[in-house]
Amino acid sequence: MAKVTSSEKIIRRLYEITNSHALGFDKQVEQLLKMGLERFNLDIAILSKIEGNKYLVKHCVVPDDVELSSGVEFDFSSTYCHITCHADKPVALEHVGQHDQYASHPAYQSFGLESYIGMPLKLNGQLYGTINFSSPTPYNRKFHAVDIDALQLMTSWVEVELIRRKQEKQLIELNAILEKKAYQDSLTAIPNRRAAFKHINSDLNRISRENNTAVLAIIDIDFFKQINDNFGHQVGDDVLVQVAKTIADSKRDYDYLARFGGEEFLLWLPNINLDKATKVCKRIKDQVAALSSQDKNITISIGLTLFSPENTQQIQIKANAKAKIDELITQADNALYQAKAAGRNCIKTFSNQ
Ligand code: GH3
Ligand code: MG
Ligand code: MG
Repeated sequence: MAKVTSSEKIIRRLYEITNSHALGFDKQVEQLLKMGLERFNLDIAILSKIEGNKYLVKHCVVPDDVELSSGVEFDFSSTYCHITCHADKPVALEHVGQHDQYASHPAYQSFGLESYIGMPLKLNGQLYGTINFSSPTPYNRKFHAVDIDALQLMTSWVEVELIRRKQEKQLIELNAILEKKAYQDSLTAIPNRRAAFKHINSDLNRISRENNTAVLAIIDIDFFKQINDNFGHQVGDDVLVQVAKTIADSKRDYDYLARFGGEEFLLWLPNINLDKATKVCKRIKDQVAALSSQDKNITISIGLTLFSPENTQQIQIKANAKAKIDELITQADNALYQAKAAGRNCIKTFSNQ
């Protein structure tokens, strides 16, 4: 049978560790460091992060009698890794006390470590830190090329994994931004139609459960086309932003405002009766009217409808909730139509009669 070389063994073990995704990065690094300690027959293993002159122990494996744990910091210039990073390549020292150059190095003075093997760790060409193994006793043999190879393999995996984790974090952040944008109106920065459906959908269940009532209002700017025609689209946009802000500032804290489309807004007022909702809408209407100037009349018409859960069970079925929202919107739209017909700048409530 062919002799299994030590480098074959280390590659196999490395493969096992790096494939054990279920372990999680921290545990994988710990196993990697342990493997290095066995391979090199040394005592202390560190994955460090370097920032300026700060040498931070990110992960370490040490004997019980050595007081070192992750999170501990040192002066970078007083570590062997300073030599390694300066050399920009793996450094292996078997007996520092007898080394011409390093016997007087502050690291030897501070820590008295006799043997050391370490390598810079880089992310996209930028120094991140090091992986290093050391011992207070001199090394009983010479470090060989195969030791450096092993160290290089470990370092490469950690580098790739750190980059991957960073990218994964960036992706998650980007996704969160995209999700936010998907539910936000880009002009007014208030929730969009999609967000409104999602919100009301979940709120309907709660209100039904609590046997409460809510009011849905559709708010439409009067003669908005004229604003565009007379002052240009940009002024129209500015008015939309101002109106959105004014409604947002005048509504109650827990009311939900969304841009429903064009110059229409949807306002969801939970836990309220028609009387109170009309008062809130009147306040909103007056605040918007106050945006008017000498040459520009800005008024809104509002259509209201009441949601009162007559059948709790039904709302809890998703399709029914969607149908219920559609029905409420149709009713509020109907009331809005009446407000327009009544001369605009007024509030109307939907009624079956
Ligand atoms: P009414 O009193 O009956 O509501 O009349 P109106 O002019 O407000 O209603 P109409 O539906 O005739 O016109 C709405 C206009 O809103 C038409 C459209 O060009 C404009 N509009 C829709 N979205 C935007 C937008 O994002 N920016 C600007 N500037 N105008 C928009
Ligand atoms: Mg309009
Ligand atoms: Mg409209």
